Amino acid sequence: MRCHHCGTDLPPEANVCPACGTPAPNAGETDLDRTFATIYRRIEAHPPEPGLDKDAAVEVVREIEREAARGEEIDPDKIEAWLKSLAFIAPDILAITVTGLAGSESDINAVIREIARTTREGPDAG
Ligand SMILES: [Zn+2]
Repeated sequence: MRCHHCGTDLPPEANVCPACGTPAPNAGETDLDRTFATIYRRIEAHPPEPGLDKDAAVEVVREIEREAARGEEIDPDKIEAWLKSLAFIAPDILAITVTGLAGSESDINAVIREIARTTREGPDAG
């Protein structure tokens, strides 16, 4: 790994570049940061389609990210509402987001699984 500012080789455990003091790319990065970085990259790489508003979809994903950062305080109702609006705006990006979150080690993973379970079963499943 190299410093993105000056190009110096960074030791794996470095939090800052020893040459210029720039924070190392992975310093302080959480599992959640990596999860959402991957999701944004996949959305970015998704081919444009007629009627697909990527910017609007990314705005919704950012809302989910903000809520996900609350850890144990996550409000599942909010996450579910955002996932539903994502399903409405951009089903493909909903799939990218859910797949990405399912790979996360954060609390959001359990929330997503619970939402997926109740959504599949529906209100009449008993
Ligand atoms: Zn540097």
